Amino acid sequence: MNESGTKDLPTDRSLAADIAQLYDSFGQRKPMPYSSPEPTRPLFFLLRTFLGDNDLLVILNTKRCRYQCAFCRLPAKSTKLFVPNEAVVDQFRFVATELRHSLSIVNRVTLSNEGSVLDEQTLGGAALGEIVAAIGAMRRVRRIEFETRLEFVRPEVLRQLKEAAPRVSIGILTGFETVDERIRDKVLKKREPLSMFLEGLDNVAAARAALTAYVLVKPDPRMSDEEGCDEAARTINFLATECRRRRISDLTIRLNPMYRAVDSRWAEVADSTSNYEPPRLTDVMRVAEEAVTEYRDIKVYVGLSTEGLASKAGTYLAREDYTAGLIKYVKEFNDRQKKFPWDRIEVERPLASDHHGAVQGTLI
Ligand code: SF4
Repeated sequence: MNESGTKDLPTDRSLAADIAQLYDSFGQRKPMPYSSPEPTRPLFFLLRTFLGDNDLLVILNTKRCRYQCAFCRLPAKSTKLFVPNEAVVDQFRFVATELRHSLSIVNRVTLSNEGSVLDEQTLGGAALGEIVAAIGAMRRVRRIEFETRLEFVRPEVLRQLKEAAPRVSIGILTGFETVDERIRDKVLKKREPLSMFLEGLDNVAAARAALTAYVLVKPDPRMSDEEGCDEAARTINFLATECRRRRISDLTIRLNPMYRAVDSRWAEVADSTSNYEPPRLTDVMRVAEEAVTEYRDIKVYVGLSTEGLASKAGTYLAREDYTAGLIKYVKEFNDRQKKFPWDRIEVERPLASDHHGAVQGTLI
């Protein structure tokens, strides 16, 4: 009570500040780790919305990816040692326990390990089987996405995993990046020729799995903005055609603006390219919009995460078209697959004089 006998209104500033901090620490801006934690803890997990689903992303903490693509620094975050099956299973138990009050709304799970979850040299098959059976016990889950290079897709293994979780359908999430063989081989150093990718795609089809493929906008730092957009459109066309040919009816494109991963070999090339600029977010949005307009049977999701691996200047944040307001439109597009309101976006566009170089924005 105060002097006038009435009850003081609670000053909820500190509560709001606490919640804001929790929101930043555990929501969409939750930071990605720079190195692997103890073996019984995952690298990362986040419950998020994805194309209308409540998707639980779990990045398991396992032995690092056996590849070293020139544009990717993910393996550097993971351990060189094989993590025992029991410890990996404990990682999933930890995630499910942390999320216990929200388990009943999860209808999709994405399993990753910053590499290939189907590569038994990095993640033991027994651990994966136990985790998939556990996901099967989460009764609303209808889809599991396995992130992997396609060379590790074996239809018989996927069939066994499906038996462990009969209600779910299976999706394969893979980094395709670009259809351009020169860029794949010489710039990205993926060590995955198109022929190898297509063999893997045959196995995706044989397993009756869905496909989600990462496509990069401007994967070669020497590309102009226009070349980057044209090349991404060609890549999407290739994937749509090859999936249709194999009757893979469920194709999702994860369209990512290329970022300059700090300390990567790709970054060295970018640094020695005089006119290098990261892609413009509005260009990425236009490519995404054109794809959903042209191919009505595919979904496109604009992914903006830099996985904690980029400096500000090496991302779309540094370009003159960027405003934090664009993120809202990207999120709406991702959820509804509807056209962007370009008139409004033009009005909100920053003047060149408003742009003071790189700024930190929300990464989704
Ligand atoms: S891009 Fe994929 S395959 Fe290549 S190093 Fe990174 S995680 Fe491994």
